[in-house]
Amino acid sequence: MTPPTGNLHIPPAKLDGPPVYRGRLAPSPTGLLHLGHARTFQTAHQRARERNGTLVMRIEDLDRSRCRPEFTQALLEDLHWIGLEWQEGGTHGGPYGPYSQSERLPLYRDAFEQLRRGGHLFACTCSRREIQQSALAPHPGDDEPIYPGTCRLQPTIPGETPRSDRTEPRANWRFRVPQGTTIEFIDGLCGPQRFVAGRDFGDFVVWRNDDTPSYQLAVTVDDAAMHITEVVRGEDLLRSTARQLLLYHALGFQPPAFAHCPLVTDAFGIRLAKRHQSLSLRALRESGKTPQDLLG
Ligand code: GLU
Repeated sequence: MTPPTGNLHIPPAKLDGPPVYRGRLAPSPTGLLHLGHARTFQTAHQRARERNGTLVMRIEDLDRSRCRPEFTQALLEDLHWIGLEWQEGGTHGGPYGPYSQSERLPLYRDAFEQLRRGGHLFACTCSRREIQQSALAPHPGDDEPIYPGTCRLQPTIPGETPRSDRTEPRANWRFRVPQGTTIEFIDGLCGPQRFVAGRDFGDFVVWRNDDTPSYQLAVTVDDAAMHITEVVRGEDLLRSTARQLLLYHALGFQPPAFAHCPLVTDAFGIRLAKRHQSLSLRALRESGKTPQDLLG
């Protein structure tokens, strides 16, 4: 692991006293929370409590086109309704704020610059269609096709930045994954995991052509900056954990532990999504269900 470099300001961890557990809830306010979110967040809550830890509420509102303040309000209420409490973030504030990603852009930009200077990134002007046509098919359940490498070997211009003042077409900046490298970790719920860079996932976007950081970059920077010691989230993000571990390494951050929860499916075995309105916590509550009915 290389030591941290660059100007990414991460507040120092408390080094005295016993090790502290720090977990987080990281909802995206793009719709109403459903039963699947409730189960995952309940597990995160329980693991933090069992370890006498601190739970952080972080609002992941980077996707300006889909996030709405009313969904933030609703999710905070719904999580309180099922009995969850957190000690930092939300309305509590805390030492590692701000706790909404939309207010943390300078941190992400610093991390981006650090990665770019370290030679980890390349600018990619491929369209989504071009990638889909030439890419290997995505793994079932994964969100993105494996990048075919079209722009990987193009030299990046020194001093080039991801700002909107770049000449058109604007680029997506991708992380150059170390092809063939195996990323292994022991998941706290799913056991040993193993992914091969370039085979299980490809060069992934860290900065988008609309001048916003990607989920992978923002979540890594935040979990490191907020000193999260264990990330609890849905199983659909297992492969993203492998991507994020590469970012931790490239940025010189100490990675947390990970625990991925099984996904909740509907009566047809389809993974719950925000379109399952009838299984939203709100709809279930309005139909007279209690938190005990839902979560036992
Ligand atoms: N904000 C993401 C979501 O709601 C979760 C990200 C994470 O836990 O790493 O799907």
